Amino acid sequence: MEQNLLIYNTLSRRKELFRPLHEGRVGMYVCGPTVYGDAHLGHARPAITFDLLFRYLQHLGYKVRYVRNITDVGHLEHDADEGEDKIAKKARLEQLEPMEVAQYYTNRFHEAMAALNCLPPSIEPHATGHIIEQQQLVQQILDNGYAYESNGSVYFDVEKYDKAYKYGILSGRNLDEVKDASRELDGVGEKRRQADFALWKKAQPEHIMRWPSPWSDGFPGWHCECTAMGRKYLGAHFDIHGGGMDLIFPHHECEIAQAVASQGDQMVHYWMHNNMITIEGKKMGKSYNNFITLPQFFSGQHEKLSQPYSPMTIRFFILQAHYRSTVDFGNDALQAAEKGLARLMEGWKTLKRFAEGQKVKGQPQVEMKQVDELRQNCYDALNDDLNSPIVISHLFDACRIINTLADKKASITAEVAQAFAEVFHTFAFDILGLTEDKGATSKAREEAFGAVVNMLLEQRMQAKAEKNWALSDKIRDDLAALGFEVKDTKDGYAWTLNK
Ligand code: ZN
Repeated sequence: MEQNLLIYNTLSRRKELFRPLHEGRVGMYVCGPTVYGDAHLGHARPAITFDLLFRYLQHLGYKVRYVRNITDVGHLEHDADEGEDKIAKKARLEQLEPMEVAQYYTNRFHEAMAALNCLPPSIEPHATGHIIEQQQLVQQILDNGYAYESNGSVYFDVEKYDKAYKYGILSGRNLDEVKDASRELDGVGEKRRQADFALWKKAQPEHIMRWPSPWSDGFPGWHCECTAMGRKYLGAHFDIHGGGMDLIFPHHECEIAQAVASQGDQMVHYWMHNNMITIEGKKMGKSYNNFITLPQFFSGQHEKLSQPYSPMTIRFFILQAHYRSTVDFGNDALQAAEKGLARLMEGWKTLKRFAEGQKVKGQPQVEMKQVDELRQNCYDALNDDLNSPIVISHLFDACRIINTLADKKASITAEVAQAFAEVFHTFAFDILGLTEDKGATSKAREEAFGAVVNMLLEQRMQAKAEKNWALSDKIRDDLAALGFEVKDTKDGYAWTLNK
């Protein structure tokens, strides 16, 4: 824990030395998914970014309580105060109970996260399980005079709040800009001013997700859940609140306003945001209709994908960029990541052999000093606002040293090899969260597999030449039973796998 970790705080707009509010313990809240569809690459980035932080803080010895919510109500069609609830809409279209939709996509989200080797959060609260806490928050804000009731709905009074505390400190927007950005139609006739946002919405008769409240049968505004659940599980003041940059405004700006209006001061010490993933230069997201879901990446089933990409390739691809820089999706970049990851894993396998006692004679000797340097370089990179691409570049440097051993151009003692393997393992596997992935070697496997099929078909040619029809038919039929279609051609054979 002696490491001096610098993290970029969006609120202060600079890197700050990380100091937890409570000795040895860290509270971290990250905005989770809205569960009405499969997670896409844009969801993988915050998941992996904050998984890296979670892993690193634990590595440093902190006891971390990591809360990531599931949004299963209150996220409306137009990301504003109007429109149909996204989950309710999906349920209506597919004739399901809204909770069936939410559960189905929550399960799918968990599968994708496990595949990406993201550790599960300590607590995963659902918005629908915390309606009372959200109502309490709304009541506190009403009691303090920063909200008003209108026609059964409750709105946050942004102008009044701005006079007392200043609205827009996270996004750097002033109130006039906020007014301009708000839609004319949002909460038409109910809100006093355009910039005001809903804390509680009265449900329309057709709205199926609704709860009783002092104001109306209705549902909470989207921003309420994170303030209410963050406070419930991490306390009135906690260390880190994270999410994608697209959440800075309005979501996190509104969270700050809600916290301050209800308790008089801010809840969050460090605000951290990952940058976005673009696809051909455009933001990737459901509303842009250009998103590729994680299951599609894993299976390769999307017109923009030239091949499947393993979860570890995706993880490595994302870690190869610093979390605050943009990443543009492309098959070339993903294929380069696949190769890079394979190179790293090859290096690891070789290193393991030396750590397990394989002797190598060569000049010069790999010294403990180099291992210490590698360790320090990796720590320095992580301590500089989680600079994972620099950590990866140091691991590639390590692979170059390992290759000199494999080429017998250097030697290493068992003691140094073991220390070397331990450092490599700590950073590549424990902290970056990489795994020895089948996907990274899938090309080699595929080639070997094809060679075996060809070997069998060569034998069948031989059998045919010897007029051993029983054997030749057996090979063809056995392959057919496994899903191979074998065709005889002029110069021999051709085969395809129909599975
Ligand atoms: Zn949130």
